[in-house]
Amino acid sequence: MAYPEPLERLVAAFECFPGVGRRSAERLAFHVLRDPKARELARAIEGALSNLVRCSVCGNPAAKDPCELCADPERDGAQLLVVEEPRDVEALERARVFRGRYHVLLGAMNPAQGVDARHLALGRLVERIRRGGIEEVILGTDPDQEGEATARLVLEAIEDARLSVRVTRLARGLPAGSAIEYLHRGVLEDALEGRVPLRRRAPPAGKTAPGRDDTPA
Ligand SMILES: [Zn+2]
Repeated sequence: MAYPEPLERLVAAFECFPGVGRRSAERLAFHVLRDPKARELARAIEGALSNLVRCSVCGNPAAKDPCELCADPERDGAQLLVVEEPRDVEALERARVFRGRYHVLLGAMNPAQGVDARHLALGRLVERIRRGGIEEVILGTDPDQEGEATARLVLEAIEDARLSVRVTRLARGLPAGSAIEYLHRGVLEDALEGRVPLRRRAPPAGKTAPGRDDTPA
């Protein structure tokens, strides 16, 4: 016998999520029926869908448009960090390591899952750079196959549009606090490939190194 119609609808709704098959959808649906917190979940979903907009500048979900980050006059508009997902922005903001502005692609190239260049709204990014004020575009997509393909795609879009902007990629390499002996091959490979010149520590502000230039051309 089939499930009652409202339950069947719930199962079908769960089945729409990526990676959720019929069995998992049924399990989730029964969990919802048993859990008193399910009503709060339903209200949270409804609230998020009706109160969030996509920031027209950076693409991040926000309570208002433009979002708080884009509206903040204190941030450096010359640096634009391009990331895949809102959670990347969240992680970077939590770490307080970046004071420039963001652009969120809301995805990465993944032809197997039907995500290609059209879904990433690169035109919006190109238009944003064309409006001026941005000196450096930092590609902060994930260091995996999809992220690398996405970074290349963004670079091509910028070059094809003949935009005069510096394009950089986040460095890949040794995690701080790690030990060489414990790192796997891919990390070591990246670290070797992305090696950088070692510089002397900069002299204290106001003083210059005595009589010698230690950064050869
Ligand atoms: Zn924004």
